[in-house]
Amino acid sequence: KYSTAAAVEDPIIPAVNVNYTQLLINGQFVDAASGKTFPTLDPRTGDVIANVSEGDAEDINRAVAAARKAFDEGPWPRMPAYERQRILLRFADLIEKHNDELAALETWDNGKPYEQAATIEVPMVARLMRYYAGWADKIHGLTAPADGPYHVQTLHEPIGVAGQIIPWNFPLLMFAWKIGPALACGNTVVMKTAEQTPLSALFASNLLHEAGLPAGVLNVVSGFGPTAGAALASHMEVDKLAFTGSTSTGKVVLGLAARSNLKPVTLELGGKSPFIVCEDADVDTAVELAHFALFFNQGQCCCAGSRTFVHERVYDEFVEKAKARALKRSVGDPFKGGIEQGPQIDTEQFEKILGYIRSGVESGATLETGGERLGDKGFYIKPTVFSNVKDDMLIAKDEIFGPVQSILKFKDLEDVVRRANSTPYGLAAGVFTENIDTANTLTRALRAGTVWVNCFDIFDAAIPFGGYKMSGQGREKGIYSLSNYLQVKAVVTPLKNPAW
Ligand code: NAD
Repeated sequence: KYSTAAAVEDPIIPAVNVNYTQLLINGQFVDAASGKTFPTLDPRTGDVIANVSEGDAEDINRAVAAARKAFDEGPWPRMPAYERQRILLRFADLIEKHNDELAALETWDNGKPYEQAATIEVPMVARLMRYYAGWADKIHGLTAPADGPYHVQTLHEPIGVAGQIIPWNFPLLMFAWKIGPALACGNTVVMKTAEQTPLSALFASNLLHEAGLPAGVLNVVSGFGPTAGAALASHMEVDKLAFTGSTSTGKVVLGLAARSNLKPVTLELGGKSPFIVCEDADVDTAVELAHFALFFNQGQCCCAGSRTFVHERVYDEFVEKAKARALKRSVGDPFKGGIEQGPQIDTEQFEKILGYIRSGVESGATLETGGERLGDKGFYIKPTVFSNVKDDMLIAKDEIFGPVQSILKFKDLEDVVRRANSTPYGLAAGVFTENIDTANTLTRALRAGTVWVNCFDIFDAAIPFGGYKMSGQGREKGIYSLSNYLQVKAVVTPLKNPAW
């Protein structure tokens, strides 16, 4: 139902204005204290879309001071939860009203297909905000029995100022996953967006203020990791840190949090998720699903099914069909209708992916299709399929974060479970089988935070998401993320007359 206005036949400039490029501090759009800006680029061309204020430690200090004041003195944590809920619901309505502009900004800044942004991601943001708005007035403690004459109750209180750091692959959705539970629970927030994609969060934050959010409750600082991000992670007045990004940066921010004020940290990190096609699978459906599991969002998904394990009995047929499907994938300007794949986010990721492709060839995997850039402008890469991939090859071990499918052959369940789990990651897994016993065996044996059976990338607001092992700590979405943003206070009072 989205407007096709932005998805025109010969798209050059999208139908959206870039109105918000400054930092959002205490309800105002302001320049960085240093006056510095940095360019945010169009991945279709590498051209500058806009120059954005570059926040650093001083701006983080200003933003944390505003969030601190809004928490310690402001109405937000104290107002009736019903009022907070109404603001979040109004925000969801405004997201829907501005669906197409938000989607256009997201595509322009990130390169993802406009149709995907407009019909999947922005609607998911509205849905998620409504989900957490629903929780706002249902958060409460309990009474507990005590051995002595005491009345014991627990209060579930907001934790305080939440520092949140997000990546560039789903800029608006990651923004929503983070602020939804934090705000619903009554916290205030300082958000550090990814330097590659600052635009949509600024636009959405303005809508949140239009919906009635008090000044200082949400502060958004665009800028770089080692400056703004590190200042946020190590800030003494930040009470909780939520981070999504690479495992290596996750280790850095965990260290910064530990060395400053020991703020609790939740981490959503990288993955190398197995997608397992069993011998009884319908091959055509499995090929389509495995293709989607890897290539969705230009392969830039933390949970991408990036190790496609196929049973030896269906392996040859699968490889042939996976290659044919990749060859059919429509790659091009993401503003065009019918495009499945746009450019990669930036030159750094583009070069990194091409490097992994070279390593796949050098290590002896069979390059079935793709393997090179598409065109000579922007960061487009041809959908790439490798077969005969072995577990010890770099392309089977590292997170490539690009449109590169690695297909591995397996013998039996024991073999595939051992190999699927043989990774430092544990974010997600896909299982493709018609057999309930096989599905039950695999879902229990796989060490991953999500197992999708005969489906992939299902991300409803109520479904928790997060990783085992080095894919993260804690869960986001669903009821589980509320506890990330709440303190539990036990209140104990003596009973005057225990007989009653
Ligand atoms: P990244 O770790 O480089 O950056 C993520 C964020 O951290 C950015 O905002 C960045 O500015 C900031 N950052 C970088 N260095 C920092 C530092 N020293 N201190 C504080 N902040 C710092 O990751 P990326 O390349 O932007 O994103 C891709 C990675 O994110 C992939 O590995 C992917 O798997 C992961 N990811 C995970 C999830 C998940 O939910 N598990 C979701 C999306 C992306």
